[in-house]
Amino acid sequence: MSNESVQSETHSKTARLVEISNQNCIAIVMIDNPPVNALSAQLRAELFEALTTLADDEDVLGIVIACSGRTFVAGGDIGEFGTPKQLEPPLLPDLCTLVEAIRKPIVAAIHGTALGGGLELALAASFRIVHTDAKLGLPEVKLGFIPGSGGTVRLPRLVGPEKALEMILSGSPISAEDALASGLAELVSETNLLADSVTFLRTFLDTKAGDLVPLRERDDRFAATRADPSRFEALAKGLIAKVRGLSAPIACVEAVRNAFVLSFDEALREERKIFLQLVSGPESRSLRHLFFAERQSNRTRKDIRARTVKRIGVIGAGTMGGGIAMSFANAGFSVTILEMSDEALSRGLGIIERNYAISVSRGSLSAEARAERLARLSPTTDYGALAECDLIIEAAFEAMDVKRQIFSQLGASTKPGTILATNTSYLDVNEIAEASGRPQDVVGLHFFSPANIMKLLEVVRGNKTSPDVIATALDVARRIGKVPVVVGVCHGFVGNRMLTARAMENEALLLEGASPGQVDKAFTDFGWPMGPFQMGDLAGLDIGWRNRKAQGKTALIADALCEAGRFGQKTGRGWYLYKDGSRDPQPDPEVDALVEGAARRQGITRRAIPSDEIVERTLFPMINEGARILAEGIAGRASDIDLVWVYGYGFPAGKGGPMFWAAQQKVIDIPTRLDHWFKNTGREIFRPTRELETLLR
Ligand code: NAD
Repeated sequence: MSNESVQSETHSKTARLVEISNQNCIAIVMIDNPPVNALSAQLRAELFEALTTLADDEDVLGIVIACSGRTFVAGGDIGEFGTPKQLEPPLLPDLCTLVEAIRKPIVAAIHGTALGGGLELALAASFRIVHTDAKLGLPEVKLGFIPGSGGTVRLPRLVGPEKALEMILSGSPISAEDALASGLAELVSETNLLADSVTFLRTFLDTKAGDLVPLRERDDRFAATRADPSRFEALAKGLIAKVRGLSAPIACVEAVRNAFVLSFDEALREERKIFLQLVSGPESRSLRHLFFAERQSNRTRKDIRARTVKRIGVIGAGTMGGGIAMSFANAGFSVTILEMSDEALSRGLGIIERNYAISVSRGSLSAEARAERLARLSPTTDYGALAECDLIIEAAFEAMDVKRQIFSQLGASTKPGTILATNTSYLDVNEIAEASGRPQDVVGLHFFSPANIMKLLEVVRGNKTSPDVIATALDVARRIGKVPVVVGVCHGFVGNRMLTARAMENEALLLEGASPGQVDKAFTDFGWPMGPFQMGDLAGLDIGWRNRKAQGKTALIADALCEAGRFGQKTGRGWYLYKDGSRDPQPDPEVDALVEGAARRQGITRRAIPSDEIVERTLFPMINEGARILAEGIAGRASDIDLVWVYGYGFPAGKGGPMFWAAQQKVIDIPTRLDHWFKNTGREIFRPTRELETLLR
């Protein structure tokens, strides 16, 4: 949903939002509700009144509904969400019913974005004429509900059930061209939308006024699907598989299916029922929380101007550097990639080329787009080639001496004002900044792997980072489609620091009686895409092993696995067994024996561990760490932490992020839980912070 489909709080509530004018028997209903003509209670009431009057006006033969300002109705008024205003009559379904019932041709003249309720209003009109730049869509699913004002019933009648399903389930808008081709629009207007709409209506009235068939009586687009619904069902299955764990997409399928299985009125009634159920449910509350969280996280102060960023430099063409370079090239930036040697450069570029080739072979990228993106990349081994860059992101090895050397070189060889960023996962950004000699220009930009896919960007603010550098980082993040979250400097920032806390109990749970499979299942049942042991096998257990050795730390079982050469998927064995190169994890009796032996030596009596204990013993320590992070000011808002976890680590979006989830768990009494676990383990699992207690109160 558009970030802008919210009414300006300052707009006067008394000003009229709808004006009617008459052009020779054609009435123009002009909506003017800046900034985005959202369907507030007042606008619904005024539209209802205007249309009721016009329906009875004998001098009016046809009606155009249009909007002034930069867009057609861009959606419901999110500012009124959950307030009594939202429920003030007339409700949108009634407004749509009225539009549809008027026995005069009505054109919705659409420019800008017709989203959600805006498109539903347009669907109730007889015709839709769209400006070339218009975008049309039903994004409700992204907020955890379905279109509730006829969208799922009317859209399939115009574009067919399959196309409607794709639009409603993806929530993504389509172009004017696509709207015309699919039957959603009757005409694309290149220049004067209003004049074209009036001309269209006149021609219709002059030539075929008798042909006005209300949409409710049209079901010609259903014939093929009714005769053989298998294509629809297969499409539905495929689309749902992509959005595992959420109920709104499943409800969208049901609603679109109802459109061609039930009568028009029955389908409308069902749609409304499902809509009301979902809109007040926990999934929608969570997704709306995330929507607002995102709007807040990239908000900048109005008095601070972002610096201009056109050319990007990336240092290091490894796993992260390659993905970061792709993110920028995909968004149209020129990117210079610097490596230590020609071999390292060609290895890195080879991987980028292969990634793009896979996208082309899957049909998600055209060959031309791939060529354009590759052409934006300039490889180099010479710091001089970075002279014109506006933002340089370092993604070299994770070692302070390497980072210091690079930043000292960058400080000396780049133009003043160039922003110097580090992608470090754990190192002290302040120390790296000092090495550059101009710490005000230095910021952490912590991307997540794979960097061209994952949406999270932790923007790490150093002690001396200039406010306009932060503003620029947020601006750039938006331009490359990332969700930025500003965080302070500490070991692991927000995400990795909490991840460490989440992992503290993993091995203990095994020693006390759980299996890797059981722990992972508890995670996936909760909604995580993967459990920690599967994740470890995928990433490679040797990485953590090396890190532990460097820090003088140990992990009883994980170290033993690595000593036995079990590094995970890449060696065919880790926490699980992967037979014949398969990625399908199989339980391994050798691992069970290893765990049992270790437990015996430690004198632990193994027991059956319930799944909710696994969930709570892993989640609450990380949420406790999140509370500490908030208290320290490392994160500015609990909702920022939620964004980090949903967009960087796969926390189930339908649960709104760890802090939001915790705040809903008021029934969980932490001291009682800790006592219970103490009795079982003889250990204090974690020490709750005051902030956690407040969160759960
Ligand atoms: P990598 O080993 O895959 O790539 C590092 C690249 O940097 C190599 O190609 C190397 O040749 C190059 N390099 C090293 N020193 C250099 C120098 N002085 N000048 C130019 N190039 C140099 O490592 P990676 O996984 O891409 O990690 C890079 C950075 O990103 C690290 O700081 C890491 O902590 C961080 N990071 C990694 C991940 C991850 O999941 N891999 C996630 C977030 C952040």
